[in-house]
Amino acid sequence: MPCDECDTLWRAYENAVFEHVRLCSKLKLALAANSDGGFDDLSFEVSSAENRRAEARTALSRHESAAGHGAASLAAKPTI
Ligand SMILES: [Zn+2]
Repeated sequence: MPCDECDTLWRAYENAVFEHVRLCSKLKLALAANSDGGFDDLSFEVSSAENRRAEARTALSRHESAAGHGAASLAAKPTI
């Protein structure tokens, strides 16, 4: 990582991605297991996680362009 802040922001982003993916899987499993509905809470969690993921990515991009480094690493990193 180019600097400590990049490192911190990357970890936050990766955690946010992981959490989003985890909640999506949980929602899919819940939907597959039941057809009664009632998944509003879980859907809300998924969209909250999606927002946190987007925010973490924005924070990372903003830091990288402000600091003038790391743009290549973001482009090279596969998006899940
Ligand atoms: Zn940095």
